[in-house]
Amino acid sequence: MSDNANVIDQSKPSIARVYDYMLGGKDNYEVDRAVGDHFKLNLPGSVAIATTNREALVRAVRELAAAGLTQFLDFGSGLPTANNVHQVAQKINPDSRVVYIDNDPIVLAHGRALLATDERTTVVQADVRDSADIRVNPEVTALIDFDQPVAVIFSALLHHLNDDEDPHGIVRYWSEQIPAGSSVFISHFRSGHNDETIQAESTLQSTFGRGRWRTEEEIIALFGDLRIQEPGVLPAAIWNRDKAEDEVGLRAVDSKLTVWEELIVAAIAEKR
Ligand code: SAM
Repeated sequence: MSDNANVIDQSKPSIARVYDYMLGGKDNYEVDRAVGDHFKLNLPGSVAIATTNREALVRAVRELAAAGLTQFLDFGSGLPTANNVHQVAQKINPDSRVVYIDNDPIVLAHGRALLATDERTTVVQADVRDSADIRVNPEVTALIDFDQPVAVIFSALLHHLNDDEDPHGIVRYWSEQIPAGSSVFISHFRSGHNDETIQAESTLQSTFGRGRWRTEEEIIALFGDLRIQEPGVLPAAIWNRDKAEDEVGLRAVDSKLTVWEELIVAAIAEKR
């Protein structure tokens, strides 16, 4: 990590802060809102990528916790928002332990404040590309027992890694660290081979130098040897919706997806 990696830079937009803005959060600056407003004004409807992803993540954590998983490793966790992973998991199993990992210093700053009294949850500032360092980080190993099943979460993260940053290798590394009975959740931009995909990808690449809309085949390949659970890889807007009858205010499961809702998908896979 460079010397100033823990300094919040307000002169450049950050992925975490732009996403926070798209979700209606307040932990962002003018420079981030300019990027978010570009999406809102020029790519109307694109905010659904953020909102439907977040809703799918909450459903995923509920499902993983209900299946008995009590250890969560959440990569690219983002800024605290409504229904954070530890809150959703601990509501089902109060003993759940959660490690949030993000390379953006603002996540550490806000996360530490949120979690000041929660001994079962921590935030680690680290780059997901540094897998081996994260694996031995004392804050990680204090909460996660890698001999017991772990839920590994890559929610809206891997599309922020370009191909030469080896997102497949990162998922493979963590799949090898966790025992049978563990699960991996991935949500990811899916290419629609359309103008919306091209414009959104071009905006992210020109802003951050990263942001890849991968094909469904490429996303399935990210899971490697893990077994993808039913209902498979589906748009986040409808993924696992039949198991979330308690949610209100969401789009009807059987109504037609918008072009933007088609551009992010989700799935859980298990290690056997
Ligand atoms: N996982 C949350 C969710 O789904 O709601 C937040 C997703 S947000 C779109 C992507 C997050 O990944 C940001 O908080 C960003 O800082 C983080 N991120 C991007 N590249 C990363 C990297 N190389 N290592 C760790 N975190 C990264």
